Amino acid sequence: MQLTRKGLWSGIIREFRDFLPEISENAITTLLEGNTPLVEVENLKDIFGDLRLLLKYEGLNPTGSFKDRGMTMAVSKAREEGAEAIICASTGNTSAAAAAYAAKAGMKAYVLVPDGGIALGKLSQAMMHGAMVLQIKGNFDDALNIVKAITKDYPVKMVNSINPYRIEGQKTGAFEVCEHLGYAPTYHFLPVGNAGNITAYWKGYNQYYREDIISNLPKMMGFQAEGAAPIVLGHPVDDPHTLATAIKIGNPASWEGALKAKSESGGVIDMVSDEEIIEAYKLLASREGVFCEPASAASLAGAIKMKKEGVLIDGDTVVCTLTGHGLKDPDNAMNSSPKPVKVPADVKKILSVMGF
Ligand SMILES: *Cc1c(COP(=O)(O)O)cnc(C)c1O
Repeated sequence: MQLTRKGLWSGIIREFRDFLPEISENAITTLLEGNTPLVEVENLKDIFGDLRLLLKYEGLNPTGSFKDRGMTMAVSKAREEGAEAIICASTGNTSAAAAAYAAKAGMKAYVLVPDGGIALGKLSQAMMHGAMVLQIKGNFDDALNIVKAITKDYPVKMVNSINPYRIEGQKTGAFEVCEHLGYAPTYHFLPVGNAGNITAYWKGYNQYYREDIISNLPKMMGFQAEGAAPIVLGHPVDDPHTLATAIKIGNPASWEGALKAKSESGGVIDMVSDEEIIEAYKLLASREGVFCEPASAASLAGAIKMKKEGVLIDGDTVVCTLTGHGLKDPDNAMNSSPKPVKVPADVKKILSVMGF
């Protein structure tokens, strides 16, 4: 026998170099993000009938969310420019990714998170990777305004998704979907918070289209949470609320990008309730074996809604991006599941509880 696998995955920058801004080899900072699976949904025919539904499972990135795709670009570029520190505002996953990639690059990371409402897994990552974690008395939108003010005058590089390199990295998610399928899907569903990701996917699909790699474009379907749906309502929301903390955002940084993706693709920006989000979250975990965080399930909740409304039909190919891993948010998982059964260490008693 011989080893046969050659050329293992080398991270999104090296894999998609021809489609990304130039970057010098020695600045590349990668944890081998990307190459996430496109999982075929098999057990939801009662809801979706005969359309083909696939899950782009971004929870399997190195820090457990799609933010790694943008962060490898933003941190590599910051390193190329000689920056010694990065800063971001975050609902959690951006801070986890920033902290990890800064550690890898030998840089200092400052992360501003809302005091309360940040999922346990995400906070522990930022702390463990050695970032300075600043919990501010305010929400994400307040944190982002502070970061903007600081980076205007001080030598720290902002790595929020208004940093254009974040969008550049994140568009590789769309490339991978096309590489896996051999074409672009009919519909692409995404949760929408700051709207960077929907902006990035649309950019990626368009780039492959212009390069003649694909000959169709998907309709982009963005879903906000009902209590944090500024784009749907058409105005900022002062006090956004949803248990899907990753999309609890009242004034999205890439608002225009989301509207552009919607109108150019003939898609929608719509909203789903927290109840619909939790239902989709549980459905994925219990029937498909895929554990994502609540915000991620807004994409599937959106697809369920669009199926009910007759928008999606048999024969369509539908991709839902699952933005982050379920382990990020153990509290919501525990609150959404039956409690473990406490039993004595006794075979007979256990068998009877098992129903034998
Ligand atoms: C950041 C994030 C989102 C929202 O993405 P935007 O680019 O801000 O729209 C959704 N889900 C998860 C898990 C995230 O971390």
